[in-house]
Amino acid sequence: MLTKSSAHVHTTYCDGKSTAAQMAKAAYDLGFVSLGFSSHAYQPFDPDYCMKKDQISAYRQEILDLKAEYEGKMAIYLGMERDFYSPVSPADYDYFIGSCHYFQIPEGFGCVDGAPDNLRYYIDHYCSGSGMELARQYFDLLQRYILSIRPPIIGHFDLVKKNNGILHLFDENDPAYRRMALDCLAALRETDAILEVNTGALARGYQIAPYPAPFLLKAWHDMKGKIMLNSDCHDARFIACQYDDAEEMMRACGYTSAVRLGRHTLFEEYGL
Ligand SMILES: [Zn+2]
Ligand SMILES: [Zn+2]
Repeated sequence: MLTKSSAHVHTTYCDGKSTAAQMAKAAYDLGFVSLGFSSHAYQPFDPDYCMKKDQISAYRQEILDLKAEYEGKMAIYLGMERDFYSPVSPADYDYFIGSCHYFQIPEGFGCVDGAPDNLRYYIDHYCSGSGMELARQYFDLLQRYILSIRPPIIGHFDLVKKNNGILHLFDENDPAYRRMALDCLAALRETDAILEVNTGALARGYQIAPYPAPFLLKAWHDMKGKIMLNSDCHDARFIACQYDDAEEMMRACGYTSAVRLGRHTLFEEYGL
């Protein structure tokens, strides 16, 4: 493992299973140089998966306390994973990860990566039953997020494929699908954001390869974009889940370096 960092870590403040202190200890024990906490920002429409409004200040204080506790040993950062539809401002955080998990609909919100039944309902009612239409809407929304808010890091870029194995939504090799994803990637390049390589779904058994797919990682390399390996960790045992395999894949896609949360600056480059 060369990366020794994750900027994408959830705790019991949102839908994680481990406490912030347990996450920090697991990272430190593995020799991490840095760790960033990224609880799901408050979103009133799906409270079970995010920080409660009245816990935001406790979250902030606990991460700042850990930052002080590990000073000189491991750099700790206060971040958040902010959905497009979250009303929370990222202004007072070290960084944030921009992610799209939801579609807004008259009944509330459809969830891209939720239970297959929930997604099936959304596709039947709002995508004319078409998985390709779902992908089109997802990449449209992600592109809107990228160009309007300009997140510094984009989380799980092709999350829309999460339920593909169960629902058979679209063929990832279909040139029309690839065009949508590549057009969105080109928009991302205009903002100079960092593309996350995310192993979280491997830890939870939803996918057999990290997000994004190799064809996107190769295209991003051709565009000279920056990548960052993150574990999207919800359980301290998996703080560096499948990092060796993911680094191998990154090298196979042409990368000789990546960025991570830095020891002295927010981001630093390291060799692969
Ligand atoms: Zn996410
Ligand atoms: Zn996450």
